Order: sequence, then C-alpha cells, then structure tokens
Amino acid sequence: MTGARKDYQKIVGLVRQHEKWFSESLPLVASENVASQGVREVLSSDLGQRYAEGWPGERVYAGCRYIDQIELTAIDMAKRLFKAEFADVRPVSGACANLAIYSALTNPGDTMIALSIPNGGHISAGKKEFSGTAGLVHGLQIDYFSFDKEKMNIDVDETKKKLRALKSGGKSPKILMFGGSLILFPQPVEELTAVAKEIGAIPCYDAAHVAGLIAGGQFQDPLREGAHLMSFSTHKTLFGPQGGTIVAKEEYADGIKKAVFPGTSSNHHLHSVAGKALTFAEFLEYGKPYARSVVANAYALAEGLAELGEKVLGEEMGYTKSHQVALDVTGYGDGGVVEKKLEEMNIIANRQLLPGDLQAGRHYTNPGGVRLGVSELTRLGMNKSDMREVAQILHQALTTDDAAKTRKRISTLRKNHQSVKYSFRRSDAYFYH
Ligand SMILES: *Cc1c(COP(=O)(O)O)cnc(C)c1O
Repeated sequence: MTGARKDYQKIVGLVRQHEKWFSESLPLVASENVASQGVREVLSSDLGQRYAEGWPGERVYAGCRYIDQIELTAIDMAKRLFKAEFADVRPVSGACANLAIYSALTNPGDTMIALSIPNGGHISAGKKEFSGTAGLVHGLQIDYFSFDKEKMNIDVDETKKKLRALKSGGKSPKILMFGGSLILFPQPVEELTAVAKEIGAIPCYDAAHVAGLIAGGQFQDPLREGAHLMSFSTHKTLFGPQGGTIVAKEEYADGIKKAVFPGTSSNHHLHSVAGKALTFAEFLEYGKPYARSVVANAYALAEGLAELGEKVLGEEMGYTKSHQVALDVTGYGDGGVVEKKLEEMNIIANRQLLPGDLQAGRHYTNPGGVRLGVSELTRLGMNKSDMREVAQILHQALTTDDAAKTRKRISTLRKNHQSVKYSFRRSDAYFYH
C-alpha cells in the first residue's frame, strides 16, 4: 500500500474511533453539543462544495436556485426564533459574527467594553496583547466590565461609574459587549441600557453560549432588554452545525450585511446554512422543553456536586441559571491536571480560568477551574436523576484513581443514551456515514 493510501485509511479509522469514544464518554464541554442526523446529512450534501457570495437573490454566482430558498427560510426562522427584525445566517463562526459587528459599528482605535477572560470573557472580544480578535484584527481598545466575584456577574454600580469616567476621559466606549464564555447567570443588560445611551454606546450581546437557552425562553432575552444586536454560535446550547449568526434591529441590516460579505468573508458555508435552518426548525418545535431541561439539569448537577463536597462557584446566587457549572478544582491541583485526569477516565470537560486566578499566579494553562456543560447530555435525553449519577461519577473521578471503574460506570450510564432527542426523526447521536 502506498503511504498516501495508508494515511487516507488511517484518517477514516481515526474518525470512526472518535465517534466510538464519544459514544462511551461523558461529553461535558459547555461549548459543544450533538446535532441530529438530519443536520449531519445536509452537512455532507453537495451544498458544501458550492459558492453563493452575497445575499439571496443578489448573488454573484449562478447555481443558487435552491440555495437561495434555503437561506431565506433560515433567515425567516432565525427572526421568528429570536423575535428579531433582521437576521444574517452567513457568519461561519461566532468569532466571525463578532468581527462583523465590530466592523459594522466601530473604527479601529475605538473602545469596547467586554468581560475580561478570567471573569468569563471570550478571546474574540479580547485585547491585542492577548491576540484577541477585537484588538488584533479590528484594532479596538478593550476595557472591562466591573465584576462581582461573589455574584459571578457584572457589577452594575461600579460599571456605571467606570463608563462615565471613560466618557469624561475622552475614551467613551462605542460598544458594550455583554455575554461570555463562562456565563452562569443572566447579565444586567436592562440595568445598563440607560447609561449606554447616555454615553453613546451600543449594547450588544454575545450569546455564543446561551443562544439555545434564549431561543427556548429559559434565559434573559437580550433584544427585549435593550441590546440592539446579538451574535451567537449555532453549535453550543443551540444544537446545530458549527457556525455563527447575527440578529439585530432593522437599522443595522445594511451595515451588518456589508460587514459579513465582503467585509469578513467571501463565500459562506452553504451546507452549514442548511444545517442551521433544520436546527432553527427543531428549536421552534422542541426548544422550550429542551432548554427547560438543560437549565434544570445544570442546577441538579451543581447541587449534587456541592452536596458531595465539591467547590461549586456561584453558591450565593444558586450556582447556575444556565447550562454551565463552574468548579474550583484547586484542591486537586489545577484545571489542567484535572482536565487530563478526567479525559483518561472518559470524562470530557475543559479547564477554566476563574475570577482571581491571575492574582493567585495561575494562568490559562493551569487555571483554578473546570467548566462543565450539560447541553449534550440533555440532548441525549438525560434528566435530573441522571445528573445525580453524573455528579457521583465526577466526584469519584476527582477523588479516586481507579480509571477503569469510572469508565465502566460511564458506559453503563450511556447505554440508554445513544440517540438524539428533541428532533423530528429518530436520530443516532454518534455514527459515521
Ligand atoms: C465560543 C464563543 C465565541 C466564538 O464562537 P466560535 O463559534 O467558536 O467562533 C464567541 N464568543 C463567546 C462568548 C464564546 O463563548
């Protein structure tokens, strides 16, 4: 066999092994989910080989007869799902959606307010010195929301003071970017819209993580609370294909369209648009019960872990109102060590920088925390009683070294959870076709 042929077969084999591994693991990465079989089928369709630059009906390529109908239907459903005047489903990721928003609303050198990374912010709203998209690619100056570590949320009064001080200092922010990657509780969008108006900043919401909870009516509704635009990933709590979307008030439509194409992409991913459309349909039908179950499961997991003596953040506010649970694992070393140990036991979760980590000399490779998300387990049909078992498995994994025992317990739990729920068709969760 030639080397290339061998490598070809090796890759197919690795993909199959990956599917098998995830079918017997506990997938707890908060930014991940599992798409339905219908979504995975359109992802492998011919649409993935085509071009459709521009807006439906105004393409600069031929061959878009059906693609245009798919995209217009996706737009229509996104608008209904998020009760938005305008939607652009073309961004190829959440980070690209954010970049389009920065490009439409600001000039390089302008200031944007976001959460710092230890307080839950995402690198796409980060400073240039950290290679954050906002700073590095669009030249924005980044300043931070004041944060209350006990409440695990933006501090409204301190933030108001800070915003007014920035305005007096001639560095009035153009965007307040709410949302985050570690997001346990709804943020004070409504409480800060008046001061945003006073200083001339546009409130935006990065719902990369919580879009599915918003669509299911189980989290805050940023566009109703004063945000003018909202970006999100389509594959985190929203269980679709990897991609991004922007929804906004109509007045931003022209600016966003140009910023998405040609500003920040040439062709977008048409197979992903079809997958987004199917996902929006699944959400219009099943979003409410799914999101309700996600939030209930996250709380059950947090409570279960706390009862077993684990250090769960956000206790003062009831641990979580989202899909996430944040654990302080400094008692077991650090987040990096714990992430590796859990992976060995088939528990897939990721390390997390926590508020106060930098002051304590920890950084992103050895942070103090681990972030858990229950969206994928929920889509596999798990409920609150399953979360009690997940809490015990996690506690066992953290406190003992018997990997084989933990793996066995997980594969037992997973036996009856191999298909995707909240979907129009019976749907295997992990398969290669
Ligand atoms: C994940 C995430 C993003 C980036 O999304 P991608 O789809 O991975 O590009 C942006 N913002 C926040 C808050 C995120 O958590």
